[in-house]
Amino acid sequence: MHGVLIPRSIKFGEDALGQADYPAGALIVTTAPPSLSDKWISRMGIKDYSLFDKVTPEPSIEDVKAVVAEYSEKRPSALIGLGGGSSLDVVKYASKEMGLPKVLIPTTFGTGAEMTTYCVLKFDGKKKLLRDDAFLADMAVIDSYFMDGTPEQIVKNSVCDACAQATEGHDSKLGNELTRMFCEKAFDILYAAIMEGRPEDYPYGSMLSGIGFGNCSTTLGHALSYVFSNEGVPHGYSLSACTTVAHKHNKSRFYGRFKEVVEKLGFEPLKLEADVSEAADTIMTDRGHLDPNPIPISKEDVVKCLEDIKAGSL
Ligand SMILES: [Zn+2]
Repeated sequence: MHGVLIPRSIKFGEDALGQADYPAGALIVTTAPPSLSDKWISRMGIKDYSLFDKVTPEPSIEDVKAVVAEYSEKRPSALIGLGGGSSLDVVKYASKEMGLPKVLIPTTFGTGAEMTTYCVLKFDGKKKLLRDDAFLADMAVIDSYFMDGTPEQIVKNSVCDACAQATEGHDSKLGNELTRMFCEKAFDILYAAIMEGRPEDYPYGSMLSGIGFGNCSTTLGHALSYVFSNEGVPHGYSLSACTTVAHKHNKSRFYGRFKEVVEKLGFEPLKLEADVSEAADTIMTDRGHLDPNPIPISKEDVVKCLEDIKAGSL
């Protein structure tokens, strides 16, 4: 048997933000300053709401506790996460704790977090990846409106992440016919949008990618990328080389087109400070990404991939 979880309601396309119906008496949770959130909220057209804007970037369970402590008694009708991953993650966890429905409105794109049952929070200073069916949105609103004013480098990194997640997800051993359908369609849309210069299609492609990989997994490319993350390289940027090399190693059908996308976006070659053998040892412990890889991966394979990335031979 196979299963796929999808938010109960998905609003997307032009002016989804303005046309979606929001529950009265909801609590909006955001990391954004009032100068920004005021603009977003007036575009939503929501009237009767409260606002909690004290979420810290890279939030911890303490941020969740702060929301629960302040609002349990006040009983909002629903929680609305409005912002980047940080706001969405706090709402995913807090709504579960409070037994309330949740609306997720990503103002950044790329991770597909608004579609998934994953939540990243810090516990005792350490980031933990949690998964729970209860983290799934009751309603998700995807609108390319938020791309206006996003720095070009962030857009590039984000769309590269979405492409990596779609294609690695397609090849994951945890996938099924339906996840592969979403992943394939996601990459087709993202590929065309990148090659033909239609960035307004990125959030929709990223949303489909989230449904696809969020119901299976990413694989070798993401496993390789974490040693670069540890050296401060942005996630999407590190995948430009890591996922290309991983697709080459896996003989993935996406290798050629993924490489074209990376070239079109124009990423600088990646550098790795760490010792390759030590980095490979770290990567080999990441069973969550390596076990679902389409072919078995040895430490020698990882070393070869890292050497290729360092040499810029994609
Ligand atoms: Zn990713």
